[in-house]
Amino acid sequence: MKIIDSHLHLDKVKYRTLEAAFKGLNGELQEASISKAIVLHLIIQGWSLEEVADQINKYERIEAFANIDPNSIDAETDLLRAKNLGFCGLKLHPRIQQFSVDDPNVVALIQYAGELNLPTLIDAFPDGTALMDGFSPFKFASCAKKCPDSKIIWAHMGGHHVIDMMMLAKRLPNVYFDFSYSLLYYQGSSVPKDMIYAMKSMRFDRIFYGSDYPDRSITDTYNASYAYLKESGISSDDLEKLFYRNFTRMMEW
Ligand SMILES: [Zn+2]
Repeated sequence: MKIIDSHLHLDKVKYRTLEAAFKGLNGELQEASISKAIVLHLIIQGWSLEEVADQINKYERIEAFANIDPNSIDAETDLLRAKNLGFCGLKLHPRIQQFSVDDPNVVALIQYAGELNLPTLIDAFPDGTALMDGFSPFKFASCAKKCPDSKIIWAHMGGHHVIDMMMLAKRLPNVYFDFSYSLLYYQGSSVPKDMIYAMKSMRFDRIFYGSDYPDRSITDTYNASYAYLKESGISSDDLEKLFYRNFTRMMEW
């Protein structure tokens, strides 16, 4: 089975240079037999779009989404520049970048990403900080509703809000999920079972795998996620959708 890891980052703690971070990542991907991986560029890591693009072009198995500040006056210019450099999506992080998901600047940038045919991934993990900042499935839905021509990925499936997020996604055909981090983070609670329920309820469409490396190891995360889904009785065909086909379909690859 071909595997796409749709959600990972560069390891700036282990590797001192961008070149080393890409080389290390590519080695780990190769070892785990991951055929394609999507690096989520992060402004806070300090590596520019140009520097990251130079590296993506060196590795056939690595693609990247560009992190853009939605409140910058140059947001749209930056996104267009990213697309021209070879980035294949937009990455937004409400908690780290300190914005509300339904802010007009955020909505405008996601709409523009849709015009450029770039999907947008938004972090949707309700940790304590996100909850204190007012994490709300309603805000995610209100944003997605205003951007009907933009594909939007709600990363981490909304954590323990997964059932709400799934019910909303059923009314929002432009919404997708990655199940990175949450599936393993909440092990022992009811959340992973709810995630499986949500996957079944969505007929295993519009949902895909991610490891969230370097928070989690690429190989161990893949093995543990695959084993858990398999134990839960998911068929080989549906596993292939989750680990490969749903993502290529969204990207129109
Ligand atoms: Zn992440």
